[in-house]
Amino acid sequence: MMFYKFFTLKRGFFFICFLFFTVTNGQTIRAQESEFTLGTVCVVNLYERGTNELYRKIFRRIREIEEIMSANRAGTDLDRVNKQAGIMPVHVREELLYVVERALVYAQSSGGAFDPTIGPLVNLWGIGGDAAHIPGEKAIQDALSLVNWRDLIVDRQAGTLFLKRPGMALDLGAIAKGYAADEAARIIKEARIPGAIVDLGGNVFAYGEKEGSKPWRIGIQDPLENRGTFVGILEVRNKTVVTSGVYERFLQVGGKRYHHILSPQTGYPADTGLLSVTIIADRSIDADALATAAFALGYHAGRILVESVGGAAAIFLFENKTIRGTAPAMANFSLYNQGYRILP
Ligand code: FAD
Ligand code: MG
Repeated sequence: MMFYKFFTLKRGFFFICFLFFTVTNGQTIRAQESEFTLGTVCVVNLYERGTNELYRKIFRRIREIEEIMSANRAGTDLDRVNKQAGIMPVHVREELLYVVERALVYAQSSGGAFDPTIGPLVNLWGIGGDAAHIPGEKAIQDALSLVNWRDLIVDRQAGTLFLKRPGMALDLGAIAKGYAADEAARIIKEARIPGAIVDLGGNVFAYGEKEGSKPWRIGIQDPLENRGTFVGILEVRNKTVVTSGVYERFLQVGGKRYHHILSPQTGYPADTGLLSVTIIADRSIDADALATAAFALGYHAGRILVESVGGAAAIFLFENKTIRGTAPAMANFSLYNQGYRILP
């Protein structure tokens, strides 16, 4: 008998959480606010500067990005591009052009391990949704034949995107949360907030500094334990910390875990001996893309890729409970779980 376990996140579920209130000059201050958007729980902490107005502005922008870039909703710019695949170029908003251009940079530099045209394969497996299943070999080969970032045409002047072949589909699930975190950080900076945490479902922007000029302490999830159990802690100042791993969304069949980072080479979940890759970088759009790309590439090629990006560092967690990382990352990492071993 097959045993299925889904990590399912339902859309339409929306909540606001009030952690801490004070009233200053007639303004209600809330340390934290969260909403369910981008298919995940998004949390923003503005601490003693958290006004209603600023939270509203940040979440409005995040929802706007979802309305442009979601592959799960009808009528988004991205959905219109997918519907016109093989038919004609589609005019899209500037921010979608920007995110797609960044995605293509990483598609090229990862040798196609990261591919924003992964849509047909993502839809076929359905991991994270109610229809998740292990597809047949023929269906995998058919979907794979539609995945190729070189057939995604960006026309900056015309402001259009075009997928050359019918059936192709864009999916920016591996990069758009990073862009949304950067946009939240931009709004926070414009409001002259000295320090804030933006956490878009594990895609963290630790903006500025903690009170008292202290670094932020960001927990790295233990992929083998319950959510909130950390392998160790990273100390950062004004950096983004993004993790891609086997534990975010997966389908379990007969003791085997099929996670959501798919290989555009094999059509199956990328199997590189890794449990997770954490990227520390200046921009979340880069960290998000790099985390997925490095996971899909595996340790050696992934590390080379990360080290080619200025200001980026990485921590790799392996299935055999060992940890390796680039020097700037390990210098700021403290191991909590002694069940893991740090290797040089
Ligand atoms: P990452 O490693 O950053 O990304 C993994 C995701 O990228 C996969 O889920 C897949 O979508 C894609 N991917 C897989 N393999 C590759 C590859 N080799 N190269 C490139 N990309 C790959 N989830 C919902 O359940 N419902 C929603 O309505 C919904 N809306 C969303 C709207 C937006 C704008 C965004 C950005 C995300 C949304 N999501 C939604 C979540 C999304 O489907 C992904 O699950 C999520 O973004 C994965 O992020 P991650 O950080 O866990 O993993
Ligand atoms: Mg990513």
